Amino acid sequence: MVDKLGPAQDSLRAREAWLRCILETVADAIIVIDGTGAIQSFSPAAERQFGYAQSEALGRNISILMPPPYSEQHDKYMHRYHSTGERRIIGIGREVLGRRKDGSIFPMYLSVGEGHLDGARLYVGIIHDLTGQQATERRLRELQEELLQVSRMSGMGQMASSLAHELNQPLTAITSLLQAARRMLASADPSAAGRARDTVEKASQQVLRAGEIIRRLREFTARGEIEKSVVAVDQMIDEAVALARASNRFGQAQVHMDVGSVGAVLADKIQIQQVLLNLIRNALESMEGLARQVLTIRAALKDDLVEIAVEDIGHGIAPEMKARLFEPFITTKDRGMGVGLAICRTIVESHGGRLIADDNPGGGAIFRLTLPRVAEEGGDDHA
Ligand code: ADP
Repeated sequence: MVDKLGPAQDSLRAREAWLRCILETVADAIIVIDGTGAIQSFSPAAERQFGYAQSEALGRNISILMPPPYSEQHDKYMHRYHSTGERRIIGIGREVLGRRKDGSIFPMYLSVGEGHLDGARLYVGIIHDLTGQQATERRLRELQEELLQVSRMSGMGQMASSLAHELNQPLTAITSLLQAARRMLASADPSAAGRARDTVEKASQQVLRAGEIIRRLREFTARGEIEKSVVAVDQMIDEAVALARASNRFGQAQVHMDVGSVGAVLADKIQIQQVLLNLIRNALESMEGLARQVLTIRAALKDDLVEIAVEDIGHGIAPEMKARLFEPFITTKDRGMGVGLAICRTIVESHGGRLIADDNPGGGAIFRLTLPRVAEEGGDDHA
């Protein structure tokens, strides 16, 4: 028998089909409750988010999807809304907590709409699960903290080893000068000479002690192990750029990325990201105040090396800096420390790579670092 439908039934069916289609496709959970809070409709995404089957959820109070204390207070909220019309969430939307069937709690964004059907109230809740988003934000914050920590440590290490290097020469000179003074004083008035000898002796011991402290510090920093693992270059660069963005480094600079599929390197990811962040910061500082600021980051294969370039169109490397760019404590900036590039080079070289600076033909500077590429196992690039 042919089922004949009138136009009204036809459009009703069509609307139902659309609604079902929407409910089944949309990634956010959609839940309908009545004026008492009883669940009337529970979409497939709601089943996935909360872990209840539709059949279990229908008819139960919406508070089963909330952790305490909200679950206990929900009825009261609804009463208050019905009697006062005061809106806390309806039509506003808010970040709240949800509770899954297994008791676990997750962050979600809840929007609530209100409707009426045959004189009865209905509320539609749309729920966007924020778990992934918050995890990413948390990971970014953690990464930033790790980077800061590494930056502080390798900054200190580099400074200590340059200090050791710089101070050892004058310390040696002071020691031999003091020895000479002691010899000279030995021939003068016996009592004054005695006191002077003691003082000079003490001074000399202090100088040697300072030298010893520095030597130990240097030994300590030289042992700083790096933890290498196989790191995907594109991801490592993306994260470094995300970190620079997260700390609002870019200001008005445009960022161009030209990172092909260059595979992986064996590296301490956090340390190389610190190098990238340093290079990015220098590039941005070189363009400060310019009307056009473009930062370009490229990665390409050079034989069995991966080359990452950080390019700017800033004022370029000052001629007097060229020979001493990578020496510690050399800076052209008022508040610069001049240790950034020295640390960067130490890090890159400890990875078996190189860090060099070039003039950008169009104006500005290009810093290139190379790292040994990890050979792909099996040799099948499409695997
Ligand atoms: P700092 O940034 O504290 O000065 P760095 O070691 O990172 O320390 O840099 C040393 C110097 O190298 C800077 O003071 C600057 O003169 C020069 N320099 C670094 N990067 C650039 C760049 N992208 N463009 C021009 N000059 C640069």
